[in-house]
Amino acid sequence: MQRSELQNYLSDLLQIDRIRDFCPNGLQIEGREQVKTIVTGVTASQALVDQAIALKADAILVHHGYFWKNEPAVITGMKKRRIQALLKADINLFGYHLPLDVHPEFGNNAQLAKLFGWPQPQALLSAEPEGVVMGCRLPAPMNSVELGEHLESCLQRTLTVRIDNDTPIHNVAWCTGGGQGYIDQAAAAGFDAFISGEISEQTTHSAQEQGVAYFAAGHHATERYGIKALGEHLANRFDLQHHFIDIDNPA
Ligand SMILES: [Zn+2]
Repeated sequence: MQRSELQNYLSDLLQIDRIRDFCPNGLQIEGREQVKTIVTGVTASQALVDQAIALKADAILVHHGYFWKNEPAVITGMKKRRIQALLKADINLFGYHLPLDVHPEFGNNAQLAKLFGWPQPQALLSAEPEGVVMGCRLPAPMNSVELGEHLESCLQRTLTVRIDNDTPIHNVAWCTGGGQGYIDQAAAAGFDAFISGEISEQTTHSAQEQGVAYFAAGHHATERYGIKALGEHLANRFDLQHHFIDIDNPA
């Protein structure tokens, strides 16, 4: 397909114009016009770029792309090497950050619910943009140890941190990646447990003082599923070759 067709399709699907973000969403580095093979991954690191080149990809789609609001504007060092590799290989780089967190089907939050086997997650309406925090009632109440074990078995990974509470967990809210700051809104909305990718120092106090069970499940680990689902969708819809590449990251 044409690069522009892919770009327009994704802009519509992910409604990129509706969400204010810290980086450009959409085409970040322009490559060749025809796209047959796409690579998806969480972050456009050098390792991902190198693997995409080896696979002769025409486009890379990531959740964490380049050109973040507060980064230096100059292209030197690590940033130069990544961009040079992409330009030299004429590969398109597409980045979708918040639009890919919140999308009701392909979003990281929605995909996490699917992975955990939790049907019909709802967006927490006090958190913006809509869908950045989701929550649901558990099919059956669990204690925090059982819930932690469930998360570990679904994610195939040890939790970074688990903070227990001593009441049964009926409902749980979550925000993938660096979403730990939303724990207070989840507590205020009456959730018994909260899951995010990363943890901050104050998250511990928020969890303990508000009686919320808390799970830090990894920024990378919780954000693998949106971009992967998006790549699979594109492969089906447009007859593209798709490779999801998981470059492991302990954080
Ligand atoms: Zn992230």
